Amino acid sequence: MVMSTPALLENYVAGQWVAGASNTSNISNTSNASERTALTDPVTGETLAFVSSAGLDLDAAFTFARETAGPALRALSYGERAQRLSQIAATLQANRDDYYAIATANSGTVATDSAVDIDGAIYTLSTYAKRGASLGDAHTLLDGPAVPLAKDASFAVRHVFRPTPGVALLINAFNFPAWGLWEKAAGALLAGVPVIVKPATSTAWLTQRMVADVVAAGILPPGSLSVICGSAAGLLDRIGPFDVVSFTGSADTAATLRAHAAFTRRSARINVEADSLNSALLLPDAAPGTAAFDQFVREVAREMTVKSGQKCTAIRRAMVPVEHFDAAASAIAERLAKTVVGNPRHEAVTMGSLVSTAQKQAVLDGIAHLQTEAETLYDGNRETVFVDAGPHSACVAPVLLGLRDGASGKRVHDTEVFGPVATLVGYRDLDEALALVKRGQGSLVVSLYSNDAVAMRTPALALADAHGRVHAIDPSVAKTQTGHGNVMPQSLHGGPGRAGGGEELGGLRALRFYHVRSAVQGPAALVEALTQDAIEFPTS
Ligand code: NAP
Repeated sequence: MVMSTPALLENYVAGQWVAGASNTSNISNTSNASERTALTDPVTGETLAFVSSAGLDLDAAFTFARETAGPALRALSYGERAQRLSQIAATLQANRDDYYAIATANSGTVATDSAVDIDGAIYTLSTYAKRGASLGDAHTLLDGPAVPLAKDASFAVRHVFRPTPGVALLINAFNFPAWGLWEKAAGALLAGVPVIVKPATSTAWLTQRMVADVVAAGILPPGSLSVICGSAAGLLDRIGPFDVVSFTGSADTAATLRAHAAFTRRSARINVEADSLNSALLLPDAAPGTAAFDQFVREVAREMTVKSGQKCTAIRRAMVPVEHFDAAASAIAERLAKTVVGNPRHEAVTMGSLVSTAQKQAVLDGIAHLQTEAETLYDGNRETVFVDAGPHSACVAPVLLGLRDGASGKRVHDTEVFGPVATLVGYRDLDEALALVKRGQGSLVVSLYSNDAVAMRTPALALADAHGRVHAIDPSVAKTQTGHGNVMPQSLHGGPGRAGGGEELGGLRALRFYHVRSAVQGPAALVEALTQDAIEFPTS
């Protein structure tokens, strides 16, 4: 699958494949100028492909999506669009082996980690296809019953949701080139809103290839799905009042985006999924030797190493009663020591590399930053020889840091190191634990571990106001639980505050972002007629 000669990956805009200019000196009057950028193998350093968005006619791209694809998509019912999602899932399934090859080469992931991205994408699409089918022939979603506005009920109001008549611009992070596209696009396309995706440059290949396969399959009306690889320059300038932007990435980039006139002046909507200091909390009853303690240890080690810790939901802070600090430290370290780091093509390797050498440097800098206040409990980099990967690869082994007195720390509560790194944090009592968790200033997910399901009620509700998701585990769900960091399409994904304040997924709740709510007031007969071709907005 890996190309013998690195090719320039084309962009798909306005229903056509277009190569970006690869030399800016030849471009005049471009809306989007940049040099071509190389995509590389993070283990071998080999150049795999190039991308460029220079010279694209972005006005035509947005106009075509908005004016040609949008109406064609919305002429279909929700149920028909759900069927298209099902066809997309089948198309991706048929090309799955190629996607794994691309992920190995461009993301440096072992097969089980590629699965989180690729199979996670297909599962998410399939889930939306099934849930969307329940909306049947409807073209409008209703928001509650009619409410009389006159004493004799002759005049009334009914709230309706209609798909926004714009474009959904998806700007994604490097760590989920497959899932990141489809977890957003599933909701947008089901709603009837055309998608333009701008994947993170370093891993754009997989996104581009998936779009190419879906375009070739002719599943969607022309222009419903576009991809722009390379610089994002000029994209937000095209965002109009009815467009929506869904962004995943760092809090810094999110802050830049939010200040753009697309949102401050034209009031387009933006959803942000940003970085997050997620926690796992071992509750006081879960002492060493109990099943819940073992579940906690297993999950912390797993979360640190899945996708080399490059998951927005990964556990960054593992909170334990201070009297169990040493037992937890050695149990987690024992598990981490089994990690075999290196070239994902080697069968002995259980954890591949980071996505780039730039990310490797950022992670090493982040570890050093945390080490100014945290002790090092385990550092695989001191003991590990990377398998089949040289010193110039982007490999980093797991590092467990520790802060016995959790309340004394600052950096561990506000610095996300986006790699195989977590900090064990000691707490004195449950009140302090809850306060420490909340020092993340709003996170995507917190997981709780106890031997008593009902005892988790109080902390679950106490932490729900600061987290998009609370994942509570006791021994009864050892085999059925879905994992701290796995984002299930049925559950909300997002988080308040520092996590970006966004909401994605959560079943058909995801449709909300892509719709405009309007209160239609009128004669009772009109208000009743609104229910034709309509269905109540689903809550799951
Ligand atoms: P990033 O540097 O913020 O980039 C994210 C995306 O924004 C990329 O596509 C990037 O394009 C684009 N971008 C950069 N500057 C832009 C601008 N001025 N205008 C428009 N787009 C711009 O983040 P990253 O390094 O790819 O991802 C890592 C971060 O994402 C981590 O902090 C992680 O926590 C967060 N994350 C969050 C979630 C979540 O669901 N909450 C999921 C995954 C990752 P280029 O690649 O071309 O620069």
